[in-house]
Amino acid sequence: MGRRTCLLLVFALALCSNSFIAPAQLITEKVGNRQQKQEEEKGRVHCSRSRTRIVREILSEYLLPFLEAEQYNLSSTSCRLHPDNDIFREQEEKIERLHPMQWQCGYCKKVFRSQNFLDTHFDNRHSSMLDTSPNRCLADLCGALHCDYFDSLSNSKRKKVTCKPAVVDRNLHLCEVLANTCFPIEQSAVAQRLNDFFKRQFCDAHTCDKQLKPFARGSGIYKNRSLYFAISLFTLFILAIYYLAVYIHNRDLGMKRKSLRRLSQQAHIKMHKAKPS
Ligand SMILES: [Zn+2]
Repeated sequence: MGRRTCLLLVFALALCSNSFIAPAQLITEKVGNRQQKQEEEKGRVHCSRSRTRIVREILSEYLLPFLEAEQYNLSSTSCRLHPDNDIFREQEEKIERLHPMQWQCGYCKKVFRSQNFLDTHFDNRHSSMLDTSPNRCLADLCGALHCDYFDSLSNSKRKKVTCKPAVVDRNLHLCEVLANTCFPIEQSAVAQRLNDFFKRQFCDAHTCDKQLKPFARGSGIYKNRSLYFAISLFTLFILAIYYLAVYIHNRDLGMKRKSLRRLSQQAHIKMHKAKPS
């Protein structure tokens, strides 16, 4: 075997070894990347903040005022609607709105231009503080509590939604589970009353019959707020009319007094002129 042949053999062997090692390295890298992604995925919270906020609004408007009226306390252990079972509750309390364009993180005092940026900051920097035990995502209850319908109330353009019986059944089931776990009928007469109320308010509308709308009993807080606003506006209007009338009356009175004084002065001057010297 010549020297050139030996060199060729060595070169061929080197090529073969590289062609075997390279895929092995690729596989190892791929596995490493997958494991890293899985680790990142584990730390990520799969719960929508915006949908959670909608659920909070629905509860504060259509449920909590009625519970307050009945002086009923939800159980934190069995009822998913209890504020303690809201995964984002603590972070939400750490949001400070300094100005319309300034949102501050209550943990590290960083300031952001919008709530979206602050939400992303919470996700990136403070998600380790979240209690990620099961059944703590309020957004998961959106189907049962009609988030899309609630959202459509404030939009002028309403989407046409086709009714899917399977989805309706699933939402109805979740709604009834909420009613029965938050207001167990065997607990008390108040709980039984609120169980019926909850079903009328949220569950009855889970049907393809479009005549039935959720939130049958109307709202509590926000409607009252608009009522207070209307009453305040009306009172201000009445007060404005009253003060305007008083002002016009006083002005007319002043003018009358002035003209009377002028007339009396003129009469006085005439009398002086008429007197014989
Ligand atoms: Zn922070």
